[in-house]
Amino acid sequence: MVKVAAYRIRVADCDAEACGNRCQEVCPQGVFLAVPREKDRTKHGADPRYRIVPRFVYFCDGCGECLHVCGQNAIRIFSRETGVEITLPTARTREG
Ligand code: SF4
Ligand code: SF4
Repeated sequence: MVKVAAYRIRVADCDAEACGNRCQEVCPQGVFLAVPREKDRTKHGADPRYRIVPRFVYFCDGCGECLHVCGQNAIRIFSRETGVEITLPTARTREG
């Protein structure tokens, strides 16, 4: 049986280097992967920048930790079943 992810994740273009890849650091399920922006690997050395992709979305449990640390509001997560977007409780504040 094919496993279907419970969530859909969109990651907008962000400045991962400036951020320090926080989403990768905090995600307890290891959902995020940093991949070279330059598709031509031979050119990557000259411009070694990365973008974040939700490569292992199947493991996402909707905990919201990535939303909590993303200072660029680059991540959006939706329930696949209901389509409802996961948002942080207003009581939570972002860490600097
Ligand atoms: S909601 Fe939780 S499990 Fe899902 S990607 Fe974000 S940190 Fe990882
Ligand atoms: S936490 Fe946000 S800004 Fe930082 S790397 Fe992840 S998606 Fe980009």
